[in-house]
Amino acid sequence: MAAIDGLPPLREVIATHGLAAKKSLGQNFLLDLNLTAKIARQAGDLTACDVLEIGPGPGGLTRGLLAEGARRVLAIEKDSRCLPPLEEVAAAYPGRLEVINGDALLVDPLSHLTPPIRVAANLPYNVGTELLVRWLTPPEWPPFWQSLTLMFQREVAERIVATPGSKAYGRLALLASWRAEARIVLSLPPEAFTPPPKVSSAVVHLTALPEPRYPADPKVLERVVAMAFNQRRKMLRAALKGLGPDIGDRLIAAGIKPTDRAETVSLEQFCALARAVAG
Ligand code: SAM
Repeated sequence: MAAIDGLPPLREVIATHGLAAKKSLGQNFLLDLNLTAKIARQAGDLTACDVLEIGPGPGGLTRGLLAEGARRVLAIEKDSRCLPPLEEVAAAYPGRLEVINGDALLVDPLSHLTPPIRVAANLPYNVGTELLVRWLTPPEWPPFWQSLTLMFQREVAERIVATPGSKAYGRLALLASWRAEARIVLSLPPEAFTPPPKVSSAVVHLTALPEPRYPADPKVLERVVAMAFNQRRKMLRAALKGLGPDIGDRLIAAGIKPTDRAETVSLEQFCALARAVAG
């Protein structure tokens, strides 16, 4: 049976184009168009937006984004085998889908997009994490994107939305809450994907804040946070001793007890520490 957009069902698309999933590209496809439409709806009102989609694969989420009314979608896909099915999607939505065959870690999409821009992706989690960190730490703020709607392994999603004192709290949670509002909007079992991955997944929706929540130099903050969490069981005066002999005084100046551990320190305190270290 044809789907709502007149295109064939995704199982048929995969069979027709011989798209056997490649492990090396982290290919776990979403074939249920009701589910991809549901994910697209989590991205917010798309009608006035360009959407940057990374890793469209056979086009399930792409079709969801277009059916939900995205003004335009720019899709970056590394696997050239996915281009013919994506061309069929482009033909069903004339003038609204552009596909770039390339590595999202290397392609600069900005000249292809008109603001306002939202980002949506179901990506291999390592690529997703790397892009998320880049998108959260650009040279200029506010960033090019209004929101990010991204699929991650459930455990990574929990690290992004974690609060102080929890085991999942660390660099990702601090960066995300410094610059965005982040929440888990959907959880998916392995069986939602073809082939099913080993673990559950979750969709995280991040909305960019107009300004970072507290002032800090991004490079200094990233360094301090990375050092603090590299040795998360140690007291901060020990974990951060590489920052200089007076680190104890700087911790106190930032309102942090030198005997505290990283996982109990709030974003506000880390930003104060980054300012104390930089100053
Ligand atoms: N979005 C599709 C879906 O939901 O069914 C495919 C999801 S699959 C998890 C990940 C997709 O990202 C694959 O199509 C894969 O080829 C693509 N991909 C992997 N690494 C990539 C990269 N560095 N740049 C662009 N696409 C990539």
